[in-house]
Parts: sequence; structure tokens; C-alpha cells
Amino acid sequence: MREHIPFLDLKDVNARQRDELIAAFTEVLDAGWFIHGKQCEAFEAEFAAYCEAKHCVSVSNGLDALHLILRAMSIGPGDEVIVPSNTFIATWLAVSFAGATPVPVEPREDTCNLDPELIAAAITPRTRAIIPVHLYGQPADMDPILEIARRHGLKVIEDAAQSHGARYHGKRTGSLADAAAFSFYPGKNLGALGDGGAVTTSDPELAQRVRMLSNYGSRKKYVHEAAGFNARLDEVQAALLRVKLRQLDADNAIRQRLVGIYTQELASLPLTLQAAPQGIESVWHLFTIRHPERDHLQAELSTMGVGTAIHYPTSPHRQGAYAATALGKLALPISDRIHAETLSLPLSPVHTEKEVLQVAEAVQRAVVKIGATDC
Ligand SMILES: *Cc1c(COP(=O)(O)O)cnc(C)c1O
Repeated sequence: MREHIPFLDLKDVNARQRDELIAAFTEVLDAGWFIHGKQCEAFEAEFAAYCEAKHCVSVSNGLDALHLILRAMSIGPGDEVIVPSNTFIATWLAVSFAGATPVPVEPREDTCNLDPELIAAAITPRTRAIIPVHLYGQPADMDPILEIARRHGLKVIEDAAQSHGARYHGKRTGSLADAAAFSFYPGKNLGALGDGGAVTTSDPELAQRVRMLSNYGSRKKYVHEAAGFNARLDEVQAALLRVKLRQLDADNAIRQRLVGIYTQELASLPLTLQAAPQGIESVWHLFTIRHPERDHLQAELSTMGVGTAIHYPTSPHRQGAYAATALGKLALPISDRIHAETLSLPLSPVHTEKEVLQVAEAVQRAVVKIGATDC
């Protein structure tokens, strides 16, 4: 049993597939082909099938996946894109890089995902798209979002960077809207051993445009039809991701089982857990709890040998990229509250039930202690 329970240990996560990963690397080394080859092609086919989407284009990372989708949809200067007020900043930055303006909409307090009821009020004649984020691995409430988008002629882009394998009314994220962006950052549910990303869509033209833009604006070698980017996945990462994709469903099932234990053990404590609505199957990229004295709780857990993390400490509109702009002056109290109160507990496919029970017990002791000093 580990004395210190880490928040996440990627060395242990990947050690389970060590031999297969080394074999995959060796295959690429021996093939001597490193960009856009057989491994990318095979991974794209396998990941598209996994997501129940018709097409997958592998790209360099999740931020580029979002950015390229927006570019491929010709969304740019003068356009507005609705984004959640609480998300990892990449969702906003992708919109900014495309030259468009992110328009934040607050989440529901219970699910922490975009509140469909607040979207209509944010739509203007300049609005072109909505980017719901499947935060912490839980699909956003897509049906009402897609309905509003349809009524106003808007595109819907899933930010699926945290939701590989999650389902909304039986359908996988990545197949729920016009296009989806995935990240394979090492700590994600499907993580590379470096950076990686993908776009999934069932629109063949959009897929081709994303592919073209990701490869110097070129469909044919040395013919550059647009000012594109170098945003490709490499063969080594594609080969490693193919190995890890084989493990993804089993890993997600472990996360779901461990979260079942957390939920049961923490139910009676004065904490807020992410609500899990009917018809939604989260893959629990993160298991978060909310407490008004989050920083105090984190410090107490740390002294008890429990590693935690904060996703995320600051709302995007308060970050340096936006604080001095008009966005920085917005009042987004729900997002601010979520950022101030949320703490992520240890969770990964190599954490054990026993460790989760230990963490839950530590949380209980810490919460009681904090409660006592409050009075
Ligand atoms: C990780 C993440 C991204 C960005 O992915 P990178 O591969 O790090 O560029 C985008 N959106 C969300 C919600 C994320 O969690």
C-alpha cells in the first residue's frame, strides 16, 4: 500500500502496457516513417470507430483541434462563439486564435456544464457557433444545446478533451454535434506520451478541410491552397495511442467503479459533488468535490498524504489573456464560485478501491476538522 496517495502517477498508468508501448515505438523506428503514415491512418480509423463518428483527423493537440475546426468552418474576425465561462482556457484561446470573440455563458451549478437555458440570451447576429465542454468527463446537456443551435443556424463543436468514451443518451461524445475536438495530453483518459489531439466529425468536407489546414494548407504535396498550419500528430504518438486505445474502455470502467465508491462514502458529508443527470454516462476524467474552504481542505489532505489538484484555480476571464479586455470586466459569479471551491481527488486506473476508501476517510476527517475550527 502506498503511504502517500498521489493524485495521478502516469509512470504507473503506462507501466501496465510497457512492453506493448515499446513494441509500438520499435515498429515506427524500424519503419523509418515519422509523419503522416500507416500509424496515423490506422489510429484515425480506430478512433473514429471508437467515437462512432465517420471521420477522424489526428492533429498536434487539443487546442489545435478546436482552432482548426473553427478555421475550417470559416469562423473568424467579427464572429462570436459561445463558450462555457468555466473551462480550461484552451476552449477560449482557440476562439481567440481564430480571430473570433469568445462569449462566455455560465454553467449550471449542479453539473458545472453549460446551462442551455442561458444560451439564448447570449446569441447576437454575430454568433456563429457554440462550444460545449464535457467537463470532468461528463457530457454537457447536448439536446437542448443542439436545438437552440438549429433554431439560430449555429454550428456546435464539442470540446471533448476530457470525455473520451463518455456517452450522452447512448451516443459517444465525438459524434454528438458538427465536430468534436479531443486532446491526448498525457493525463487525459486517452493520453499520449507527449502532445496529441484529434478532430472527429461525420462531415467529410469538414474533415478534409481540417486535414488540409493541419498540413500547411496542402491536400497535395507542394500545393498550398490556404495559409495553413503545421499541426500534425506524429507516427510515434499515433502508434502509442493505438496501444492505449485498446485499454480505454477497461480504464474508464475502473474510473466509474472507483467513483461509485467515492460517491457512496462522501454522500453524507457537507460537500457538493458533480450531479450526474439521467441518460449521461461520464468517464470521470476528474472526480471533483466542492467545499467553501477548498484551499484549507487541500492543505489538510496534503498533510494526511493525499495528493489532490485544482481544476482550475482561476476563471478564464480573469487570466492575463483576457483580464485587460472587455471580457475581464464581465461578472461571472457561478464560474468564479466553481473555480474557488472545486478540488479534484485522486483518480486513475491504477488507484485501488482501498486507496479510494482511504482518501474518502481522509476527506471526512478533514471536513470535520475544518467545520470545528469554523465554529
Ligand atoms: C486539455 C484540454 C484542452 C486542450 O488540450 P491540449 O492537448 O492540452 O491542447 C482543451 N479543452 C479542455 C476542456 C481540456 O481539458
